Amino acid sequence: MARTVTVQDIARHIRDVPDFPKPGIVFKDITPLLLDPTAFRRAVELMTAPFRDARISRVVSIESRGFLLGAPIALGLKAGLVPMRKPGKLPAERGRVEYALEYGTDALEMHTDAVTGEDRVLIVDDVLATGGTATAAARLVRTRGAAVVGFTFLIELDFLKGRARLQGERIEALLHYTYCKVSASRPCCTTRKPPTLQGLAPVAQVDRAAVS
Ligand code: AMP
Repeated sequence: MARTVTVQDIARHIRDVPDFPKPGIVFKDITPLLLDPTAFRRAVELMTAPFRDARISRVVSIESRGFLLGAPIALGLKAGLVPMRKPGKLPAERGRVEYALEYGTDALEMHTDAVTGEDRVLIVDDVLATGGTATAAARLVRTRGAAVVGFTFLIELDFLKGRARLQGERIEALLHYTYCKVSASRPCCTTRKPPTLQGLAPVAQVDRAAVS
């Protein structure tokens, strides 16, 4: 029997890859979600829903997995899509923000004509971890005079406290992970109440067998 795709169904499509890209990191691999169009669509709908009425004019998506989520979210909001990229990738005039990593610094760039002082911006990425990337992204958007309305993430690693770093910002995240010993068969995931479903397209259906 067909049924609604739940947040827990979406969580089952996230693969934990221990010790990638380096020892001690548990990588949250979203590629299994991308393989299931019904669950992927539902995830995009749920990430979009809280900002449906927020008059978003630009969706800024962060390289590289943020692009995969940002593109359908921008279409859903009828907003322009802005890729925010690692240095050296964007061809035209661009602004840059640098931010600290555990060792050294990293940087993000954005085309200067992509966002103006009139824009209302939603920032999209796959994972909120320590919050360094998201904080830097917001800083770069604000250098253009635009309003950062909020952030939407597929995954929040609650134990890394990125949300605290983004104090005062509007943050939505679909899947919340608390620290635990990771096992592939029992991913450690807690989910908060999903965002309001009002205004969503007809609810996606999935065959129970497809998600078990
Ligand atoms: P942070 O700046 O610490 O919040 O890290 C967020 C960025 O790093 C995002 O662009 C994520 O794609 C990536 N990231 C951080 N931790 C993970 C993780 N455990 N699994 C997958 N991606 C991650």
